[in-house]
Amino acid sequence: MKNPKEEVTYVMLKPDGVQKGLIGEVIKRFEQRDLKIVALDMFEASREQVDNHYPKDETWVTRLGHKTLATCEKYNIDPIKQMGTDKPEEIGPQVRNWLLDYLTMAPVVRMVVKGVHAVDVVRKIAGDTMPYKADMGTIRGDFSIDSPALANAEKRAVMNIVHCSETPEEAEHEIKFWFGESVIHDYKRFGVDN
Ligand code: GDP
Repeated sequence: MKNPKEEVTYVMLKPDGVQKGLIGEVIKRFEQRDLKIVALDMFEASREQVDNHYPKDETWVTRLGHKTLATCEKYNIDPIKQMGTDKPEEIGPQVRNWLLDYLTMAPVVRMVVKGVHAVDVVRKIAGDTMPYKADMGTIRGDFSIDSPALANAEKRAVMNIVHCSETPEEAEHEIKFWFGESVIHDYKRFGVDN
């Protein structure tokens, strides 16, 4: 079995994270938890890149539609008035499109984070997908209050500062996708690796 310290995950500071001046803060939170940044750079993602980053399969896209419908139901919003339809398979692609607008509105910072249970620990540090629900002490809970009810009404994606892979398999795929042949570095962290 692979050493647990070797687990890697993909993190992308989204445009709102960059625009809120949170680059240093986000990196600090990973590093203070003894995770290592082993690749890092800022760039402007193209619409096409973001389109290829988010899954295109029907299950994933329809899941986005279901989530949006659940928000409508919870807050007593008429999905037909807001989205023009109440079919998850039609709402999903609309939300996916908002994601393309969101991820291309300003530069983003991509990084590879390495360490013990990196995938799960990074998601824990990031907090709940929906910032208004995220616990205080998490990145999303400390620096955003965005909600799907607000985002859907404004016809945009929920702005939640960071993207982080959900599983080791997704991490492997996303690191390959965003870093390609670029070098993923390695080094010993004092007090962590020895
Ligand atoms: P993540 O893995 O925590 O980023 O969450 P998901 O994979 O479920 O969703 C991808 C992204 O879509 C999220 O980070 C949000 O930016 C956005 N998003 C998810 N659900 C909704 C929703 O119901 N409404 C809107 N407007 N955006 C959403």
